[in-house]
Amino acid sequence: VVALGTPEHSVVTTCAYCGVGCSFKAEMKGDRLVRMVPYKDGKANEGHSCVKGRFAFGYATHKDRITTPMIRARITDPWREVSWEEAVRHAASELRRIQREHGVDAIGGITSSRCTNEETFLVQKMIRGAFGNNNVDTCARVCHSPTGYGLKTTLGTSAGTQDFASVAEADVILVIGANPTDGHPVFASRMKRRLREGARLIVVDPRRIDLVRTPHVRADHHLALRPGTNVALLNALAHVVVTEGLVAEGYVRERCDLDAFEDWARFVAEARNAPEAVEAVTGVPARAVREAARLYASGGAAAIYYGLGVTEHSQGSTAVMAMANLAMATGNIGRPGAGVNPLRGQNNVQGACDMGSFPHEFSGYRHVADDAVRESFETSWGVPLSPEPGLRIPNMLDEAVAGRFRGLFVQGEDIAQSDPDTKHVTAGLAAMECVIVQDLFLNETAKYAHVFLPGSSFLEKDGTFTNAERRINRVRRVMAPLGGLADWEGVMALSNALGFPMDYRHPGEIMDEIARLTPTFAGVSYAKLDEVGSLQWPCNEEAPLGTPTMHVDRFVRGKGRFMVTEFVPTEERTGVNFPLILTTGRILSQYNVGAQTRRTENSRWHAEDVLEIHPFDAELRGIRDGELVSLESRSGDIALRAHVSERMQPGVVYTTFHHASTGANVITTDYSDWATNCPEYKVTAVQVRRTNGP
Ligand code: SF4
Repeated sequence: VVALGTPEHSVVTTCAYCGVGCSFKAEMKGDRLVRMVPYKDGKANEGHSCVKGRFAFGYATHKDRITTPMIRARITDPWREVSWEEAVRHAASELRRIQREHGVDAIGGITSSRCTNEETFLVQKMIRGAFGNNNVDTCARVCHSPTGYGLKTTLGTSAGTQDFASVAEADVILVIGANPTDGHPVFASRMKRRLREGARLIVVDPRRIDLVRTPHVRADHHLALRPGTNVALLNALAHVVVTEGLVAEGYVRERCDLDAFEDWARFVAEARNAPEAVEAVTGVPARAVREAARLYASGGAAAIYYGLGVTEHSQGSTAVMAMANLAMATGNIGRPGAGVNPLRGQNNVQGACDMGSFPHEFSGYRHVADDAVRESFETSWGVPLSPEPGLRIPNMLDEAVAGRFRGLFVQGEDIAQSDPDTKHVTAGLAAMECVIVQDLFLNETAKYAHVFLPGSSFLEKDGTFTNAERRINRVRRVMAPLGGLADWEGVMALSNALGFPMDYRHPGEIMDEIARLTPTFAGVSYAKLDEVGSLQWPCNEEAPLGTPTMHVDRFVRGKGRFMVTEFVPTEERTGVNFPLILTTGRILSQYNVGAQTRRTENSRWHAEDVLEIHPFDAELRGIRDGELVSLESRSGDIALRAHVSERMQPGVVYTTFHHASTGANVITTDYSDWATNCPEYKVTAVQVRRTNGP
């Protein structure tokens, strides 16, 4: 699995897979990476790691890496290798031509949660400063954008409220819509340690995930709800809290907006939100909901950890606000062991959001229409900036299909595989006149590209990643960029070719600019990171060594704001032709669209996506374990192997989306969160049939 050799020196850096942000010592022999050793002083992992960070780094030197820039006039033409200078000159000239012919807003770009904070900051700076619009979005759009909306609305900032270490002080842990064992393994181990010590556990998930029952951990309650009913269930939990007198009255009176609280309390107390009333909707027995609510509200410090099973729904933002409501009502924010915490999927999804990757926000989550904030960026960058929010990814694609959006820069993101309704995505890409992809590999999106700029892996650059607990970790260069330039240097070259000069000699200078322009990062510098190891934002004059727990004395927004969270069923409906619900997720050894892990030995553990199906549903269709089946939805159909499993509940099937050959997103719907357009990956009505294949 690991390249052999005796290490001669090492470099401390950060894993580029999930949002736990484990620190590693990259051990080198000459300029060759010999092995990745979990770093015992890493505050997020304390010397632990999982099979991705430890072993799956071989993709960085895989033969599929594209290391020379390429251009072509049409997507049917063969690629032509060119110099960096020619590639960025061509890209810039095409983007400017499109703007002359179709307007300033006809182009945009997508930042990556895989890249560093500094690179993400530069991409949004280039788009706002050189493109002259706010058409910048990030892959967080398709995962945690509802976290941004929901937590900012209720608490005042778009981030988890506590640090990983404080799970050791939790008395009750509520895991909802997340499978930490597979998705966030090192944090899952911390959580399990606390559970073995006696903390109580509530799991809300349609599947019987590992945490529900392991040899050492057993959930007190597994609320196996139907996909798409999170909000109904959370309202039912809140109903019990309010009607059984479990509200932390002093906390609410002192810290929250009382008018909003009263509106919310009246709403959840209505009989239609009682566990008995929603049992038929959620499928969860009312008695279990009542017991879980009592445990959450009165079992001591209670911490909520949630994942994409909450956000990737048409009511993703509503569900995030419903969790914040529940935590505020019970006094479970801003004290040790308590909080509301998104488990971020990608290494730097928190950082990408922090750095101003959304079309309506500058770094630090400040609206582009805020004159004072915008002026501070205009003064620093020397250009006027647009006060109008730009296009989100789905809007860019819609506009492209309509012929109004013609040019796109995509860094480290494979939207043709990862985004929902693949046919619509590829139709949008195919309609554009200039697609520029900066990536390690010729991915699915690159099939529609006109310019390809070689990307650099995390081993080839300096920078920082911010993990799910807001911890800013250093990424340190281990080897030279195979394509000649690190991603931040490539963006700088493109920006210069567009006539918007950038001149940074090192990513540390970009961080200095971020700190100057972003109050929550004001105290961050590479020198301080090197000195203390890592910092959790906010890090500024008031908190020079960072902030492990947020909202301690008061909420960031002032008074905590309860929101009425009416349950609205998804428009995706099961019926005679599509009687089952498909939900998707990921597995321990693979990572998202698999661009990296599929090019490592980890594929031995998981060489294909499979369909988990309950024995009842399998038997009904004459399907045996391991047989090839067809999975059909209103959007299309794919073929994959069945895995008959009692982890599923009847009526619900599950698959992963790691393999482009399976193409799970061919069949997902185009419904999305009402507030943020985060796709509803977690609910697709499907049918499963036996095929005649082997
Ligand atoms: Fe990397 Fe996440 Fe595994 Fe840590 S838990 S080694 S950050 S993939």
